[in-house]
Order: sequence, then structure tokens, then C-alpha cells
Amino acid sequence: MTDLLAKRPPRAFFTLSTDAWTKPFWDAAAEHRLVAPRCVDCGHFRLPPTPFCPQCRSQKIDWVTLSGRGTVYSYTVVARAVLPDMEANLPYVPAIVELEGAGGARLISNVVDVPVEAVRVGSAVRVVWDDEGGPTVPRFTLAD
Ligand SMILES: [Zn+2]
Repeated sequence: MTDLLAKRPPRAFFTLSTDAWTKPFWDAAAEHRLVAPRCVDCGHFRLPPTPFCPQCRSQKIDWVTLSGRGTVYSYTVVARAVLPDMEANLPYVPAIVELEGAGGARLISNVVDVPVEAVRVGSAVRVVWDDEGGPTVPRFTLAD
């Protein structure tokens, strides 16, 4: 797989469904702002957004705009198509990214546009916005 670029997963597999707790995240993404919900009462970040803070049970959320930088906490390389529609999008790299400035909160996303062999646990990444073919989705690429 050397030198193969990490692609985006198939858009046909992505359906955006929001509710009162997740809509602010996707609204900000449409403006190319990466945000995370922070509990107003205790400061705990929670991703994915939930109705109650797991630390103090508060429902008050402050949406904090982040730098868009982070660190790869974990990842995998999808190199085989389990469905025929995946073939053109291989390989892609699902990743868990620990977000800078978010108190250890992590976001499940993808690392894209870099050789898959270059991705490592601990790699510094920055957000890139994927607007093609549907709602804006935050993905990540290796930081300079
Ligand atoms: Zn709290």
C-alpha cells in the first residue's frame, strides 16, 4: 500500500441526521468552524453531544470554536471493499482524533489526502472541510 493516498469514504454511506443536541455542530461545520460542546456548569467537554453532562448532569452547553488541530488517538486503514460501491474510495483511514483545546474530547473522523503509510498514532492533524456531494463534513489531514 506504499504511497497510496488516503481517500474519503463513500458519500453514499453518509446520511446526516441531526437533533437539538447535534445541530449546532453541523451548522458550524457548514461555516467551516469546528466546535465542541462544553458543559456550562463544570467545563467538561462531551463528544458526541449528549443531553446530560456525564460529570454533573447539567443540560447547559456552550459551543466552543476550536483551532481545528488535533492528534491521532487511533486509526485503521480500510483497504478491502466489503461492498462493491466502496472500491473507488479505497483506501480510507477512519480515525479518532483528540481535539486541541477540548479537554481530551475525541472526534471520530477520517484522515485524508496523505499516504496511508504516513499516518501514525500521535500524528498531528488539522481539520479540512469536505463539502463535496452533501453536508459539510470535518475530516483531517496531517499538519505541516
Ligand atoms: Zn458538567
